[in-house]
Amino acid sequence: APDQPVTQASPAPRRSRQARVVWGERVVTVGGDAPVRVQSMTNTDTVDVIGTAIQVKELAIAGSEMVRITVNTPEAADAVPAIREQLDRMGIDVPLIGDFHYNGHRLLTEHPACAEALSKYRINPGNVGKGEKRDRQFGQMIEAACRWNKPVRIGVNWGSLDQELLAQMMDDNSRRTQPWDAKQVMYQALIQSALQSAQAAREMGMDPNQIIISCKVSGVQDLISVYQGLAQRCDYPLHLGLTEAGMATKGTVASATALSVLLQQGIGDTIRVSLTPQPGEARTQEVVIALEILQALGLRSFNPSVTACPGCGRTTSTTFQELAKQIDDFLRAQMPVWRSQYAGVENLKVAVMGCIVNGPGESKHADIGISLPGTGEAPAAPVFIDGEKALTLRGDNIAAEFHAIVENYIRQ
Ligand code: SF4
Repeated sequence: APDQPVTQASPAPRRSRQARVVWGERVVTVGGDAPVRVQSMTNTDTVDVIGTAIQVKELAIAGSEMVRITVNTPEAADAVPAIREQLDRMGIDVPLIGDFHYNGHRLLTEHPACAEALSKYRINPGNVGKGEKRDRQFGQMIEAACRWNKPVRIGVNWGSLDQELLAQMMDDNSRRTQPWDAKQVMYQALIQSALQSAQAAREMGMDPNQIIISCKVSGVQDLISVYQGLAQRCDYPLHLGLTEAGMATKGTVASATALSVLLQQGIGDTIRVSLTPQPGEARTQEVVIALEILQALGLRSFNPSVTACPGCGRTTSTTFQELAKQIDDFLRAQMPVWRSQYAGVENLKVAVMGCIVNGPGESKHADIGISLPGTGEAPAAPVFIDGEKALTLRGDNIAAEFHAIVENYIRQ
């Protein structure tokens, strides 16, 4: 007989400071008691004001709560206020984050309208300059952040790690009695780069609550190691993402794996899934995946979930697969409107099952479920609502009728 309760898995808490990313009335809190935020990045040329504004809008509607845009030239910096204006006109108040490398100090200083229109600045300490120049240029960016009261993300990336710091750490390591291996030195250098820059920003007057940190790498185990180390050493909100995750299935699986392990440990206050889009694939796909990761972990709810069995030799038709897809597509398409009309609709659970083996059981666990007839079973599909068998569908119109039942349930 069981005498020990099974420990129920749930994400561990890590209470960080809380940053505020603001545009107008819209305040996106990051860290502290805020939910894990979803963000993404455009891949348009920022100089293309309309094209960029449209993509930002698409990403925001898909669920991105902040959108980052590249600000790499004076022309791009000049385009930022125009993009912001377009978005405001469209009623899209998603905060914009400026991504700066190499010349951010000049762009933020010489283009004040750009500095003002952005809601957060991403600074890569590895791409700010070298030596004294580095300190001066980093200081100029922090000065702009203080002047315009904007949070910053100190975003270290191991593809552009501060080489001076790395060389220094390798040097120090060679003098250790038991030197670390090269990977350990790299981990330490990534973390040090972020934390030293954060400390320097604070010494220049930056509010510590306005600093977000990231240390992105492209390997799953490396990311987990680095963020575990980072989380132990600071209480800044952490931006989490597997950089250069890759394409399609590989990128999706790698991102989901790395992010899930860390999020389950309470590490990560905002996430981005960095996917290389397949030709013709919408940029919004990375947002869809980010939302699914958070929903699968039970951290947030965005869309009703559709549970569907994989099918097997007991199913001869694809009716249940088609029905599952139709229901899923239908729910997703309606959500932008339903979210504002029906409180809690994102928590709805629908089951579409292929036969009697698991069909009735799984359907009873859902808010609405249907168990389609498998091979050799009577041509009847019982429908379960709130755990009770409500009716049985028969004939050729099962899909359309079930669709209507789901819609009716949501409206009620
Ligand atoms: Fe196969 Fe039925 Fe299980 Fe679906 S519910 S996988 S059809 S046995």
